[in-house]
Amino acid sequence: MTDRYAVIGNPIEQSKSPLIHNAFAQVTGQDMAYTKLLGPLGGFAASVDAFRAAGGRGMNVTAPFKLDAFAYASDLAPSAQMAGAVNAMKFEGGKVYAENFDGVGLVRDVVHNLACPLKGRRVLVLGAGGATRGALLPLLAQGPAELVIVNRNLAKAQALLELARQHPGAAVPVRALNYADLNGDAFDVVFNATSASLTAQDLPIPTSVFAHGCLAYDLTYGKGLTPFLQRARQAGVTRLADGVGMLAEQAAEAFAWWRGVRPDTREVIVCLTVPLV
Ligand code: NDP
Repeated sequence: MTDRYAVIGNPIEQSKSPLIHNAFAQVTGQDMAYTKLLGPLGGFAASVDAFRAAGGRGMNVTAPFKLDAFAYASDLAPSAQMAGAVNAMKFEGGKVYAENFDGVGLVRDVVHNLACPLKGRRVLVLGAGGATRGALLPLLAQGPAELVIVNRNLAKAQALLELARQHPGAAVPVRALNYADLNGDAFDVVFNATSASLTAQDLPIPTSVFAHGCLAYDLTYGKGLTPFLQRARQAGVTRLADGVGMLAEQAAEAFAWWRGVRPDTREVIVCLTVPLV
């Protein structure tokens, strides 16, 4: 019997997850179907209950339900616990296993696909929302020389500092700053993990943050040359990337977790790439 999976969100029409997972299923020969599910606001648990009752095997979770999924899960993986949010669930018997693959997907895209090791590098992360929270510990696990988190709302960045300190083996110096404090420091990797690119908003960062040979990476995907990437290019950065690879890699992690086989992401990334022009 064909196994059923879905991505739940609201809105959900924009989601690329069915395209990605159905492509993965085809190349790996898995008998599964993956669809979109529009979850009514305030109706997350009832929608997931119904999907499970109909035989659903697993789900991806997107905005605004990542915290609802955290509350719904019976068994949270460390990645989900540390992120405080869930982006993938697996249903087995009465159990709801939950993971957050966003951070590991980001790291894999940077280190493996873009061949940019993070060990010993100075890393700047702009934004302190859910994506940064999920990425924090996978980034620290790579052993960067330092990690700086910048956010408009400094308290949110400082809260992440606390999270980083609780991490065993957290030897990496981590700082939380305001945008106005970003003067003089240069970084080898600069991540834009704000949602500013979704609405084509620029960020108040000096061009000096981009060190020579820097990678500028916008987690937002499908928007072409965002104001952040444009700013990086104007500063002379030649290594630019958006979050399409992260999207594909977190999907591949979920697929492997559900099906026991890890698909190659290259074709999906090519298919979904919007040129950075
Ligand atoms: P959240 O809503 O949780 O956080 C948004 C963050 O953006 C906050 O830190 C907020 O700052 C900041 N922000 C928003 N607008 C501005 C602005 N104009 N100037 C400065 N800071 C701003 O979003 P997520 O963390 O979930 O997502 C962030 C981005 O990452 C989104 O674009 C999302 O699409 C992308 N993403 C990509 C994934 C992928 O697979 N490629 C996976 C997950 C996310 P403040 O706290 O001060 O308001």
